[in-house]
Amino acid sequence: MSAFAIFGNPIKHSKSPEIYSLFAKEMKIIGEYELRLASSNNFNTMLFNFFNSGGLGANITVPFKERALLLCDQLTEHAMIANSVNTIKKKNDNTLLGDNTDGLGFISDLKRLHWLNKDNIFVNTNNMREFSMTNILIIGAGGSAKGIISALLDIKQCYINIINRTFDRAEQLTHYYHSIGYQNISCIDIKKLSRSYNNKIYNLIVNATSSSMYNELPPISPSLITCYTKCYDLFYQKQDTIFIKWCKKNGSSDCSDGLGMLIEQAAHAFNLWHNFFPSTIPVFNYLQSTFRD
Ligand code: NDP
Repeated sequence: MSAFAIFGNPIKHSKSPEIYSLFAKEMKIIGEYELRLASSNNFNTMLFNFFNSGGLGANITVPFKERALLLCDQLTEHAMIANSVNTIKKKNDNTLLGDNTDGLGFISDLKRLHWLNKDNIFVNTNNMREFSMTNILIIGAGGSAKGIISALLDIKQCYINIINRTFDRAEQLTHYYHSIGYQNISCIDIKKLSRSYNNKIYNLIVNATSSSMYNELPPISPSLITCYTKCYDLFYQKQDTIFIKWCKKNGSSDCSDGLGMLIEQAAHAFNLWHNFFPSTIPVFNYLQSTFRD
């Protein structure tokens, strides 16, 4: 059994083992890392069995991040604010430490794309001027939405709207962030939101749902996309995701899928486990050339 693994469902598409092995090569350690397909019935048992039989670190993906939070003995500040866990480390005293590296990974990838500058301010990529105000639309209210929203809320001059297929979850998430002191976020009913609803030009629209995984589009109006709107799909695959194709077709200037974020969040997880921060750009370039068409 490998000491490191990722738990999720579905899981076979995951690039995490390849990324872990490239990081391990740089650190000159053995890069064993397994895929574990869990179900809602057996997730808790599988995770505890893994750590009781030699597991040292786990990544958690769709749809178990919120459940993973409840199984950890301690949480980092990132996991607490995000209220979900994507990385677990078994500590020397055998307790489980839960972290959330999605937000840091997302922010690092926005910097790689030059959508965000080194001072954490959104910029116009044509002239690199800082925006005085950035409007962001997040679609989704699951584990990864929580991770990225908590990182974005700390960015200056940024206002977030959140929409979700199930409105209650968007509302709960918004109330949660208000309760911990963030007021620059509000939720809107996904069925009501269109350009004419609030006349906002969104600088960034993030698909933080798992819809692309099922080749489906979240039910949003094309009027929300303008030539000033950058679009990011957290899901990644070999070709453009259905969401990215739809954003390009409706006039988005810049689009990216989540491959870069995956590598960046994995680097933060690797650092938590091994106290070594690996280089991410060579891994991104390598996967771009081997994974993409
Ligand atoms: P969760 O299962 O926690 O949440 C799923 C979210 O997607 C919910 O908001 C759900 O809405 C919504 N949803 C699911 N299917 C559809 C659909 N067909 N149409 C509209 N909305 C839908 O998943 P995660 O938040 O953990 O992951 C979301 C996505 O982000 C996945 O594709 C995952 O692969 C990707 N991801 C990528 C990362 C990266 O590093 N690139 C890191 C983390 C995640 P509802 O509440 O109504 O059920």
